[in-house]
Amino acid sequence: MHTTWNDWYKDVLVCPVCRHGLAAQPSNGQVTAFFCSGCGRSYPVQDGIPVLIEARATIRR
Ligand SMILES: [Zn+2]
Repeated sequence: MHTTWNDWYKDVLVCPVCRHGLAAQPSNGQVTAFFCSGCGRSYPVQDGIPVLIEARATIRR
């Protein structure tokens, strides 16, 4: 049994603003951001670690 990135992030990563689940945004095989479909914020991934801080998020409508 192996757990992939895709499996665990769905349980672990939620938006700190609205508690909605986050969706990975892959780019060239790497996840570079996590998008919240609840409030439209996009959280960056820095050094492989999701930065789930409201002040760092960008809002896309
Ligand atoms: Zn949100």
